[in-house]
Amino acid sequence: MDTTQSDSGPEPTFMGVPREKIPWWPRIDQDKCDGCAGEYDCFKFCPHRVYRKRTDPPKIEVENRYNCVVFCQACRKMCPRDAISFPDKAEILQVIKAARTASGV
Ligand code: SF4
Ligand code: SF4
Repeated sequence: MDTTQSDSGPEPTFMGVPREKIPWWPRIDQDKCDGCAGEYDCFKFCPHRVYRKRTDPPKIEVENRYNCVVFCQACRKMCPRDAISFPDKAEILQVIKAARTASGV
C-alpha cells in the first residue's frame, strides 16, 4: 500500500467559493524539473495527491489541481531546482472576492 499519499480529496469550497473557481495550484517549469533524479521530492512531500510522476525522463506534473490547498506553497521550498511556482496571491484573493460578490456570499 502506498502510504505517501492520503485519500483526502479537495475541500469543496474555500471562503464560500467553489474550489473549481479558484485557480490556485503549483505550476511546474518542465525545463527545470528533473524529477529530483528519480526522487520526486514534491510528490513525496505533498499528502494531497496533487502530483503525478512521469518517467523517461523523470518529471513531475500536476494531476489533481483542485486538491491543492488554497494558498499553501509548502512544496515550493522542497524543490532543489526552483521549478515550482504559484499564482500571485493578491490576484487570487481578488478572484475569490469577485466570486463571493457575484454569488452574494
Ligand atoms: S521537487 Fe522540483 S525537481 Fe523535484 S520533481 Fe518536484 S518539481 Fe521536479
Ligand atoms: S502547495 Fe501544498 S497542497 Fe499544494 S501541491 Fe504543494 S504541498 Fe501540496
